[in-house]
Amino acid sequence: MRLAKRMDLIKPSPTLAIQAKANALKASGLDIISFGAGEPDFETPDNIKDAAIASIKAGFTKYTAVGGIDELKDAIIDKLKRDHQLDYSRSQIVVSNGAKHSLFNLAHVLFEEGDEVLIPSPYWVSYTDIVYLTGAKPVVIKTYASDGFKLQPSQLEDAITSRTRGIIISYPSNPAGICYTHRELEKLAEVLLRHQVTIISDDIYEKIIYDDNKFYSMASFSEEMKKICIIVNGVSKSYSMTGWRIGYAAGPEDVISAVTKYQSQNTSNPSSISQKAALEALRGPQEGVEARAREFQKRRDVIIKRLNEIPGISCMNPQGAFYVFPNIAAFFGRGFNGKIINNSSDMASYLLEQANVAVIPGADFGHDDHLRLSYATSLEQIEKGTERIREALLKLR
Ligand SMILES: *Cc1c(COP(=O)(O)O)cnc(C)c1O
Repeated sequence: MRLAKRMDLIKPSPTLAIQAKANALKASGLDIISFGAGEPDFETPDNIKDAAIASIKAGFTKYTAVGGIDELKDAIIDKLKRDHQLDYSRSQIVVSNGAKHSLFNLAHVLFEEGDEVLIPSPYWVSYTDIVYLTGAKPVVIKTYASDGFKLQPSQLEDAITSRTRGIIISYPSNPAGICYTHRELEKLAEVLLRHQVTIISDDIYEKIIYDDNKFYSMASFSEEMKKICIIVNGVSKSYSMTGWRIGYAAGPEDVISAVTKYQSQNTSNPSSISQKAALEALRGPQEGVEARAREFQKRRDVIIKRLNEIPGISCMNPQGAFYVFPNIAAFFGRGFNGKIINNSSDMASYLLEQANVAVIPGADFGHDDHLRLSYATSLEQIEKGTERIREALLKLR
C-alpha cells in the first residue's frame, strides 16, 4: 500500500532492533549476553505493584482527565518543589504515556517546517526522528570526548540562527552518561536565555547519578529561565517502570495546555492504573531509588575497568544513567576471517556473531567511533560479556 511520505523521514528505533535480533538468536538456543537494554533490570517495587492491583480492585479502570489525575499532578508538583524548589500549578503539568510521549507531543506543538531544533550529540536516538516528524530540522551539535562530551557555550552560540526554536538536552545523558556542573549549565543557560531558545530538558536519568555529581534543573536558575524551560521526566528509569508508560512534562501554561489538547486527539489519558502506580512511586518510600543507583554505580565501576583493560579501547567514566560509550576506532580497518570492520555497525555485528554479545552501534547516537553498552544487567553477565568482547577483539588483525 502507498505510505505517507513522512514515513521516509524516520527509521525504527535501532536499540529495539538489535534487541529483537539478540532475542531471536537467544530463542534459537544461543547463549547471548545483551548489553543492549535501555531499561533497568530491577523489578518494579512491590508497593507500586500493589497500588496498581488495588486500583483495579477498586474499579479505577475508566477514562481519566486527558492530562492526568489531580492527585498525580500534585505528587509531581511536590516532587519538583522538593528536588528543585520549583513552583508549578496543575495547569502547568501534563501526564503522558511515558517521557517519550511527552517529548513527541511537545515537539509537535512547538516546532514546524522552517524551524531548527538543536540536539547535542551523542544524542538519544529518538530526538532526531521526533524532530523530523514535525517537519522541523534537527541541527546536531557534535561534542567531543576531549570536552568530556559536553556542549560548549561557544558551540551553542555558533549553532544558533534566526530559525532556531529550541534545544533538546538531557543529562545525565544516554549514551555517554555525562553530567554538567552548575557553572557549566549557567554558561549554557546564559546563551539560551539571550537568544530565547526554548529548552526541552529530558531529566529521565536525574536520579541515576554517581560520585559527587549533582543534578541541577536549568528551570530553577531564574524566573526568566523557568519561562523558556520545559521539564520532561517520568517513572520508567528511576522506579523500574518502563512497561507502565507514565511520563510527564512541566512548563509554561500555554505550552502544557497545547500538549493536553494534542494528547486529547491521539491517546487521551495515560492508563488509569499506571497513574495510580506512578502516584505510589512518587509518594511512597524513596530509599529504593538511591539503592538502585548505588547498584548501577558498582556495575559501572566493573564494566569501565574491564573495558579499559582491553588494548585499543578507551572509555570515559560515565557520571550517571546506565550506559558506557567506549571508543573502538582503533580496530577499524582490522578484520577476522576476511571480514573487515570499518564502522560501529560492523563492530556490533561482529560482536554479536563472534562473541554472542549484543551492543548498539555508536552511529545511532551520532558517533560512529563508539559503541553503546548498557550495564543494566548482573555483575556476572558484565564479567562474562566483557571477557567475550576481549577475546573477540584480540582476534582482529
Ligand atoms: C528511556 C529514555 C526515555 C523514555 O522514557 P519513557 O518514559 O519510558 O518513555 C526518554 N529519554 C531518554 C534519554 C531515555 O533513555
